[in-house]
Amino acid sequence: MAARGRYDHLVAAAKTARARAYSPYSGVKIGAAVLASDGSVYTGCNIENASYGLSCCAERTAIFKAVSEGARNITAIAVVGKSDEFTTPCGACRQVMVEFNPRMKVLRRGTDGFSEDTTAESLLPGHFKPDELSKT
Ligand code: ZN
Repeated sequence: MAARGRYDHLVAAAKTARARAYSPYSGVKIGAAVLASDGSVYTGCNIENASYGLSCCAERTAIFKAVSEGARNITAIAVVGKSDEFTTPCGACRQVMVEFNPRMKVLRRGTDGFSEDTTAESLLPGHFKPDELSKT
């Protein structure tokens, strides 16, 4: 169990968002909450679709909500699932995280007690960077 701290409200928001997961096919429930640099919190859950490829992860749902509301610098994201393996962001989410702050804190929490703090850039070393686009 992680010590109480400055991100407790973010983890709590991710847990609340997890209850809203739409996952009738996998049954997997994930919640995420992002903290913007102005202190605003935006939440997301995984949203599945009968056409599986259209499903979206909780992390990207939360980040896209934040960005669509005007946030550009995201300082932290909490991801809550039932255990370690369900809080590991996929490659797509990792790339989206580094776009909005490579040093973004990533707080992974399992309802089974798993807890790990890391950063977006450490989850995706060698990530694609905006300056790569100017090398054409
Ligand atoms: Zn993902």
